Amino acid sequence: MLHIQVASSNPGKIAEFRLGIQQWQEQGRSFPLAVEPLPGFATLPSCEEDAGSFAGNAAKKALHYSHLVSGLVSADDSGLEVGALGGVPGVSSHRFAGSGATDADNNAKLLRQMLGIPTAKRMARFVCELALAREGRLLAQFRGVAEGILLESPRGEGGFGYDPLFLDPELHKTFAELSREEKLQRSHRGRALRALLDWLAAQPSKTLQ
Ligand code: IMP
Repeated sequence: MLHIQVASSNPGKIAEFRLGIQQWQEQGRSFPLAVEPLPGFATLPSCEEDAGSFAGNAAKKALHYSHLVSGLVSADDSGLEVGALGGVPGVSSHRFAGSGATDADNNAKLLRQMLGIPTAKRMARFVCELALAREGRLLAQFRGVAEGILLESPRGEGGFGYDPLFLDPELHKTFAELSREEKLQRSHRGRALRALLDWLAAQPSKTLQ
């Protein structure tokens, strides 16, 4: 059984990881894998997310924590890129409206900046980068992207962050109108996670030691 330690203080991320594995296994794949929070995460020296890109931040975090614990470590970074705003909020998604901003503050700022922009130019994408490291060595990195359209007003009660503004053009629902299971099938994190699982399943076991 392979163990992955997730470098995050967010229990929702561990639960989502486990749900992703379950969905992946239900599609007929199998790999003996257990996902756990990184032991002592809150007490370990933290890692500055200042690499300037999702990929850079995820790799930096995975490497940082892989020096502090033994075993496989995964770390992720994600956010929203809006074409009409030149890719903003990007790596600053969680603090778009300033440090300590709430989801409501960030969504309100995004709606203000998108005011008057027509539907055809309201494309946006969620991006997730997942990095896997072991003892100071970066093993692999995975990118998941979900394309969508920004609405002019929020819809739906589920999810978090920018979900109520992000319309999935194939389902005609915002991410906040999807169940957890549906969102993971469509989301950037679900896509990155499935890429990681496919990669793990294809590795000779020696690579992962
Ligand atoms: P994190 O890197 O996963 O912590 O995400 C950083 C920020 O990006 C969050 O605080 C949200 O503002 C935004 N974000 C990332 N993923 C999602 C998502 O699935 N839905 C909505 N917002 C998201």
